[in-house]
Amino acid sequence: MRFQSILEEIVTTLRPRLGEQGQVADYIPALARVPAAQFGIALRTCDGQEAQAGDSDTPFSIQSISKLFALTMGMRAMGEGLWARIGREPSGNPFNSLVQLEAEQGTPRNPFINAGAIAVTDRLVSQGDPKAAMLELVSSLCGEPVHFDEEVAASEAATGFRNIALGNFMKSFGKIDNDVATVLDAYFHHCAVRMSCLQLARATGFLCRDGRHPFSGEPLLTERQTRRINALMLTCGTYDAAGEFAFRIGLPCKSGVGGGIVAVVPDHLSLCVWSPALDATGNSLLGMQALELFAARTGLSVF
Ligand code: GLU
Repeated sequence: MRFQSILEEIVTTLRPRLGEQGQVADYIPALARVPAAQFGIALRTCDGQEAQAGDSDTPFSIQSISKLFALTMGMRAMGEGLWARIGREPSGNPFNSLVQLEAEQGTPRNPFINAGAIAVTDRLVSQGDPKAAMLELVSSLCGEPVHFDEEVAASEAATGFRNIALGNFMKSFGKIDNDVATVLDAYFHHCAVRMSCLQLARATGFLCRDGRHPFSGEPLLTERQTRRINALMLTCGTYDAAGEFAFRIGLPCKSGVGGGIVAVVPDHLSLCVWSPALDATGNSLLGMQALELFAARTGLSVF
């Protein structure tokens, strides 16, 4: 398949719509300053073919896409034990909701809502240094050094009252072992990783290769663990729009409020699209349209 021309076609189709609709996330002050009129897309196939178009080399704040990598680290370190305190069901509530946590005694519905990722991060704090581990993992996966955007991390630490509440609320149920401030510092840094579409397309390559490292081929996760991450992406990876994503795109996806969305075509390729303006569900507006065009144009879907 001629992926390069397909990606260029998608950029040509969507560029005129840049800035027309949607809003950059503004609840994290440092993200509110990102210019909305940017759009990039990149992919990497399992056999190493790459294609990219638009602003695909521009680094952006990966935000909740980091939850994928935190979960990967948690599964590697703890295996089945990870699921003792974290569920696997879609929440049906906003990603930062407190309501369900009370009814469910501090056990988050899944690892892709904020409470779930904070719970995963707590387990990682018990294992070592999750900030260093995150940079080591993503740098290795994309083949070049990756860094935190300290301004974004500080901005979120100064205003992330709801995440601070989630951490303390879970702690009150005995579901967080470590100091809440330490856990949140790691969580905010994970969200503040800066990567480009091309780097993310490379770094998520293990998800379309049965858990094998995209460059070295070494097993990072088992085939079964990888299938489970893809299943969670499909059912819980795009906030409250997972049903709509499955309906319109049909691929496991994980989005972040920085405007990035990664998508996986198992056994074929991993893909990342980025445009900062979000729709009402918190997903990149043009990103979702791009994925829809990609799925229609290539016929690639898990269904
Ligand atoms: N750092 C963001 C938060 O915790 C991540 C949200 C997201 O990308 O979904 O609110």
